[in-house]
Amino acid sequence: MSVSSFVVAIDGPAGAGKSTLAKKVADRLGMRYLDTGALYRVMAYSLHADGILPEEGTEIEKALTNLSVQIVENGLLLNGKDVGKEIRSPLVDSIVSSYAALPAVRKHLLSLQREQGQKGALVADGRDMGTVVFPDAAVKIFLTASDEIRANRRLLELRERGEAVSYEEVLLTIRERDKTDSERSAAPLRKADGAIEVNTDGLTIEDAAELLAAIISERKRSVAGR
Ligand code: C5P
Repeated sequence: MSVSSFVVAIDGPAGAGKSTLAKKVADRLGMRYLDTGALYRVMAYSLHADGILPEEGTEIEKALTNLSVQIVENGLLLNGKDVGKEIRSPLVDSIVSSYAALPAVRKHLLSLQREQGQKGALVADGRDMGTVVFPDAAVKIFLTASDEIRANRRLLELRERGEAVSYEEVLLTIRERDKTDSERSAAPLRKADGAIEVNTDGLTIEDAAELLAAIISERKRSVAGR
């Protein structure tokens, strides 16, 4: 990573508000934003569509060599195509963690993520930002919220998109995802050493964004003053 890159690594379980907040804070502070969950969603969507099962082996290795994900101004391109809508479906919600647990899939995305950290100030959100991808990040935040609040937020998001899902289904998917993400051996979800834990229960998006922006700005000042 280049010496001048100021990276903010935000990790946490599904639905804690990471993407919404990371994007908001990046806009506010004039930093770039990287949604690494979207990268794993694209992988899962594409591999599943091609009938590749989430299992280690030559089949997945071969499929990955033909799979190109590009990070562009407004999102991601899968082999040149915008699949932004498709990757947010309940189907992808339910399969993404099985693919993300595979070391070959994680390896395929590692350099792509790190390159983004070399292009200047960045806010990146995911599960292993502070532990694996950007272990030297200037700021590490671990964002949490109760299961019920996370499920309610996700339910609203899905319903706004016209998906017919129940609260119980969403809660179950979130809990299953958290379990797979935390218990896998490759880059499991956990709080990085030195990360500041922020619980967003009872905070509005604006309040939480304010809090994160204050933490990041404070750190920026202390790095600049060194
Ligand atoms: O952040 P989002 O909920 O979109 O992430 C979707 C899934 O992608 C997660 O549940 C996890 O399995 C995987 N993921 C990951 N590592 C990251 C980001 C996401 O394993 N850095």
